[in-house]
Amino acid sequence: MSELPPCPKCESPYTYEDGDLLICPECAHEWSLATGQADANVVRDSNGTPLADGDTVSVIKDLKVKGSSSVVKVGTKVKGIRLVDGDHDIDCKIPGIGQMGLKSEFVKKVVE
Ligand SMILES: [Zn+2]
Repeated sequence: MSELPPCPKCESPYTYEDGDLLICPECAHEWSLATGQADANVVRDSNGTPLADGDTVSVIKDLKVKGSSSVVKVGTKVKGIRLVDGDHDIDCKIPGIGQMGLKSEFVKKVVE
């Protein structure tokens, strides 16, 4: 088992687990570890930078567009991305190509 975090209220190190909850014996605070897992759902770019809706990214390798002969060239800037669930976790509109899904591992965030 991994070490349990200290109580967020009183910082007692004597917290224990009860099902999905963590319980502090000193101040009786109960909280859930699930909030820590939410971070696993954060979509990150190829550098590990968290992405958010509306971000601008650039493509880090040539990507073939499924069902067409088009290629999204490396360095293509994509504005206003939208994060979605799924294998292709970025939904976006690419200039000259149109709406498509991208994988976050093939982009990097552009800081403007
Ligand atoms: Zn406590």
